[in-house]
Amino acid sequence: MNLATLEMTPLAPSEDFTAVDLASSVLAHLHQSVVVLDERNQILLSNPNFDSMFRGDEEKALLYAGLESFALLRQPADTLLHVGGRSVLLRQTALPQGRLVTLEDVTEQRAERARVIEEARTDTLTLLGNRLLLRERLGELLTRRVDGEVVAVLAIDLDRFKLVNDTLGHHVGDALLRMVAQRIRSALGRDDLAARFGGDEFCVVQTAQAQPHAAAKLGKRLVDLIGRSYLLEGHLINVGASVGIALSPADGDDGNTLLKNADLALYRAKQEGRGTYSFFEPAMDEEMQARRNLEIELRRALAMREFALVYQPQCNLQSRQITGFEALLRWNSAARGLVSPADFIPLAEETGLIVPIGEWVIRTACREAAGWAQPLSIAVNVSAIQFGGTGLAATVLSALAESGLEPGRLELEITESVLVGDYRSALDVLRRLRKIGVRVSMDDFGTGYSSLSYLRSFPFDKIKIDQSFVRASIDDPNSMAIVRAIAALGQSLGMTTTAEGVETEEQMARIVADGCTDVQGYLISRPLPPDRIVDFLRSHQSKQDLDSAS
Ligand code: C2E
Ligand code: MG
Ligand code: MG
Repeated sequence: MNLATLEMTPLAPSEDFTAVDLASSVLAHLHQSVVVLDERNQILLSNPNFDSMFRGDEEKALLYAGLESFALLRQPADTLLHVGGRSVLLRQTALPQGRLVTLEDVTEQRAERARVIEEARTDTLTLLGNRLLLRERLGELLTRRVDGEVVAVLAIDLDRFKLVNDTLGHHVGDALLRMVAQRIRSALGRDDLAARFGGDEFCVVQTAQAQPHAAAKLGKRLVDLIGRSYLLEGHLINVGASVGIALSPADGDDGNTLLKNADLALYRAKQEGRGTYSFFEPAMDEEMQARRNLEIELRRALAMREFALVYQPQCNLQSRQITGFEALLRWNSAARGLVSPADFIPLAEETGLIVPIGEWVIRTACREAAGWAQPLSIAVNVSAIQFGGTGLAATVLSALAESGLEPGRLELEITESVLVGDYRSALDVLRRLRKIGVRVSMDDFGTGYSSLSYLRSFPFDKIKIDQSFVRASIDDPNSMAIVRAIAALGQSLGMTTTAEGVETEEQMARIVADGCTDVQGYLISRPLPPDRIVDFLRSHQSKQDLDSAS
């Protein structure tokens, strides 16, 4: 400790020693190096840490000379020095006479900070960057972008990943994501950056390329590479990828807008049948806005009691009697007027809103049917989404109990999409309900997958032949053959076959000849509001009585 030049405000003699002693002891224990310099940069005071760093041999003297030249700069702010492979933080504070200079070795702290920063920007599963890293780099790129340069953002999403995760387990899902990350990496140029945003969402930023060709090429390559089969733990796995592309500056000049627009393009790619890439177009933004508004209104519709059910009769062809009704949902929107289910059910399914709406449908249909004078059947449409979780069985049971409807009168209409994917749990739900007497129909058969294995996987009570075949059947021999084949299939499996969408006597004659057992369509009746059911049944009955009398 160099106290020789220490000047202190004179204190009372007895306190003098204590103050100096205290100060020197503090200095000796500081882990920083401390030095006090006068105006001519002569050392007035230093502590042992400083001495061992800068004083003694020639090398240290040299270091000090370097330090002196820095100190001479008298930078007001803190300065980071690199001394002998170490990082040293230099701070200066003006004193009445001279300056207090502290030096702190921050090498380890900085290394730790760099590690933390890196860790916070890495996706630990795939070791790609994460969202934070990509957003930061994208931000830097966009601010540094020169005129004529185009930055491309590619949003990537796997198709059918959830299915792999749900059926083969999370460890297979994780391994798959790592392999997808590898394939993405292998498709990138030197300056491109890839990140995983979580789940099965990836993103790539592509720079310094002739656009839009390079982005289209990369998009195509990614779809192709990711779409190739994976062999994982003995499972041959196929997932596809969809890619949405946004370009800066044309589609936005900030990161948020670009990522959002790449997502909109991705949404379009998914809608176009997946396994494809799509470029952003401004119309997508408007479309998405419209969808969002529809979703908001749809959320309100339940609470506002804007939904209602109409009932379309189903008729047995042999007895000519009405056997029951199908409940069809109607949305009487205050803002939009009457909205067709075809226009809002897909969105309700996508957003999960179909679950509460579907529950309302089941409860309402059971309650209204329980009030009918005759014990006719009531068919309710159920979406695949409603089979997620265990809620559906509970809802049906409680709707039956609440309404007092006999379970044998309730019929659930499902489409093949229920049996695609994790169909085992859906079949469980169906079996449980069938055990108590609820009947199950296969709706819209002939469209979609039309896999006979679905018909075998569950003892359906009824096959409903899609109206497109019924209406095309007059002049289309293929459709006619399909109707006939399904009717024969139903007969040999002991299932009712209902022809949907019969509008004319001609179609009626056709489907009777083809062997269908039941019919539903405008020819019998359009869907009816509940208060018209009694009248309809009465007039149908009197027409039958007249027919049989004549
Ligand atoms: P779907 O279950 O196949 O219902 C038959 C659709 O065909 C109904 O249309 C019905 O009005 C219509 N239709 C019946 N006969 C004829 C005809 O002779 N000619 C013509 N052109 N059309 C006929 P809607 O009510 O618009 O329903 C469309 C679809 O929306 C339904 O097809 C069903 O998939 C879905 N849907 C309706 N209500 C519900 C519901 O409560 N829940 C769920 N998940 N889906 C529903
Ligand atoms: Mg239906
Ligand atoms: Mg149908």
